[in-house]
Formats: sequence, structure tokens, C-alpha cells
Amino acid sequence: MDEFALINQFFKSISSERSDVILGIGDDAAILEVPKGQQLLVSSDTLVADVHFCTHWDPYDIAYKAVMVNISDIAAMGGRPSWVTLALTMPTLDEAWLQRFSSGFQAALHPYQVALIGGDTTRGPLSMTLTIHGLVPAGRAVRRSGARPGDIIYVTGELGAAALAVDFLTRQGCEDADWPILLKRLQHPTPRIDWVDFLQTYASASIDISDGLSADLHHICTASQVGACLVFDSIPIHKLVQKYKKNHSLDFALSGGDDYELCFTVSKEREALFLSALATAGLEGYAIGQIEAEPGLRLRMPHAECVPLNPRGYAHF
Ligand code: ADP
Ligand code: MG
Repeated sequence: MDEFALINQFFKSISSERSDVILGIGDDAAILEVPKGQQLLVSSDTLVADVHFCTHWDPYDIAYKAVMVNISDIAAMGGRPSWVTLALTMPTLDEAWLQRFSSGFQAALHPYQVALIGGDTTRGPLSMTLTIHGLVPAGRAVRRSGARPGDIIYVTGELGAAALAVDFLTRQGCEDADWPILLKRLQHPTPRIDWVDFLQTYASASIDISDGLSADLHHICTASQVGACLVFDSIPIHKLVQKYKKNHSLDFALSGGDDYELCFTVSKEREALFLSALATAGLEGYAIGQIEAEPGLRLRMPHAECVPLNPRGYAHF
């Protein structure tokens, strides 16, 4: 099997019928139509073996995660994913591996109706770079830079479970019944596309939590030239993190990566409307603190003053 047969067998078949794909896989470039009134969002994420996933994982899960972390970036901007390219580098041409990888890729794209529109296939140490494209009504994308003093900070779900799974990859001590739950949080994160309409309508700034809440919130603060104070006991911590990490569980929630929940801000004036719309939709958000004019992050302890909080999260270098 050569490179072209490989592309045909494992990737050309992954198709999501979209009328905005004029020409997909097979030519020197894809031809795409950005619908009128929409703007195009573009983002790339690379996943490297034994940094972002374990080489021995089922390739289905590797592909699945690669797609989800990319879709999460589009969700964070308040957009909907539409097209993706895949640049895949692998050490050998292993058909069984590719079959699983391709199945996982397709399973991940299907519910979001994202089309695979091209890519590149090369030999080398296992890694993949996806470039995801998304669409957002013109002018309604949510940036990191829009947070203002007084805005309330929200997160969309419980934090720390993916980081706990990483912790247990190298350590013993996880009960058998808990392990699949944790591994699922690491391998199959769910990008919060269900929040996109709310972000577009109510958020002043937004980011997805890929490196850790404190590190990612710090990005919002830097871009918006503000600071933030988080309330100690308001941060939603996954129950298994509380079970295993006890006194240290807040650290996991603040600095653990890979959760792919969203962190966003809503102005005080819009908050009541936001909360009632949220209740109508049956979504649950967690208010965790407030944006302040003074730069830097702080944590308000129970019955006490705010203490400085160092932004920490996953760093490659
Ligand atoms: P070129 O030599 O012009 O760069 P390639 O031979 O690399 O083109 O790729 C042929 C076609 O297959 C192109 O349309 C390209 O986008 C697509 N393609 C290559 N690798 C992949 C992949 N891993 N997944 C999806 N499409 C791919
Ligand atoms: Mg070419």
C-alpha cells in the first residue's frame, strides 16, 4: 500500500456531507465556501506521542482526542466547527492501526458534522497536527480580550479529573471502579459546543481550559488588561479529585490541564438575563469569582482576605 492508497482507504472515506465543501480530499487544496454573513475561525493543535497521549493507547482514542481538543478551540471562540485538515506523521504504515485511527476520527467528527477536507501524510515519530475551521456569525466571535472589572467569571463543568488520570498513569492507587471514569475524562473530553449560543450572546471573554484553570484564566486577564479574584470554595472540583487528593484537590482543579471545559466572563448587567436563559436551557454553569482592575490572580479564602494565586498549568518549555 502506498501513500495515496492509504489516503483513499482510511481518510477519503471519512466524509461528512456539507454543502459548503465545494472540493474535499484529492486535489492540491480544498475549496470551501464561507456562508454569507459568517466569519471563519481557524486554529491548529498538534498532539505528540507520549506528550499528549500514550503511544500504546488504542488509535481510536488518540484520533478521538485529537479531534475534540481542536473542536474545543472553536467552541471557546463561540463558533461551530465545520472543516478540519489532518497532517499525520507515523513511524510505519500499519493498516490495523490506521483502521482504528480512522474509525475514531470519523466517530469524533460525525456528531459535529465536521468534514475532513485534506491533510498530509508523512513518516516520522508519531504525531498529528489538525487544523480546525469553524464558523461564527460576523462580529460575534468571543475573544480573550473582552473581560472588564466587575464581570463574573464562570466555568462550564467540574475540573481536575483529566489531570488526576495523568497522575494515575504513573502512580498506583486508583480503585478499579474509578479508573475508567478518569481515563474517559482524559481520552474523550467533550468540547462544550452546547455553550456556543450563550457565549455569543452573553460572554465578554472566553477561553477553553486546556492547560489549567489558573493558567488559562490568566490569559484572559493578560489579554483584557485586568486581574481576577476567585472564591476558594466556589470552584467545581470533580468528586474523584476530592476523593483522592483531599487537601490538594483545589491544586488539581486550578492547575490541571486537559479538562476542555470553558472559562468565560459575563458582565454584571447581563448576568440576570444570562442565568435565566441558562436555566431555561437546562445548562449548569459555576460562578467562581470576579474580574478586578488590579492585575494578577487572587484567591479569596473562607472568612479571610484574598491571597495571591500564581497561575500554574501545563507548560511545554
Ligand atoms: P500534495 O502532494 O499536493 O501535497 P498529497 O499527495 O500530500 O498532496 O495529498 C493528496 C490529497 O490527499 C490532498 O488533497 C491532501 O489534502 C489529502 N491528504 C493527504 N494526507 C491526508 C490525511 N492524512 N488526511 C486527509 N487528507 C489527506
Ligand atoms: Mg500539490
